[in-house]
Amino acid sequence: MSTVQELLDANEKYSKSFGDKARLAMPPARHFAILTCMDARLDPAKYAGLREGDAHVIRNAGGRVSDDAVRSLVISHKLLGTNEWFVVHHTDCGMETFTGEVMRDLLERSLDTAVIDERGWHDVGKTPGSSEGEFIDWLTIDDQDRSVVRDVQRLRSHPLVPGYIPIFGYVYDVKTGRLREVPAATEAGRAAH
Ligand SMILES: [Zn+2]
Repeated sequence: MSTVQELLDANEKYSKSFGDKARLAMPPARHFAILTCMDARLDPAKYAGLREGDAHVIRNAGGRVSDDAVRSLVISHKLLGTNEWFVVHHTDCGMETFTGEVMRDLLERSLDTAVIDERGWHDVGKTPGSSEGEFIDWLTIDDQDRSVVRDVQRLRSHPLVPGYIPIFGYVYDVKTGRLREVPAATEAGRAAH
């Protein structure tokens, strides 16, 4: 069966038991937002106990505070009333396996999927590459705790983020499913009053 068909079959089942979720309000009922990585092993609804309508979950590669993550979080608070934010990075993140320079080089060689071995990433593609990767900040991670702290600091000092929103920093362990607080991040994200 094709991926498209599998997806549509799963959706058909889901919509059959949709029930009273039709009555959910747009603003998150539990007034918080999570920024986390897109890694397929992470399911924020499960690791944080969310149901539809509960919270905003913003995801990108690494769960980094990119300009677009800021955009989403500012909308989340300003228009939809979230007032506590969680930044959740995780162990064994793919963003730790390369640097911006490596990514630019891989993309310049080809656009096809690269391979990784004990010596790092290698391009094996056949299509032409592009130098456009030069213009993207890939926001790679060299230390999970430090990236969580930096991201919380960026939000805390952002002019569009009010001081009264507490921002918490965690690392999710892909081996145990457990969230570990990064105290320096939570400290940096403490609400001003
Ligand atoms: Zn990740």
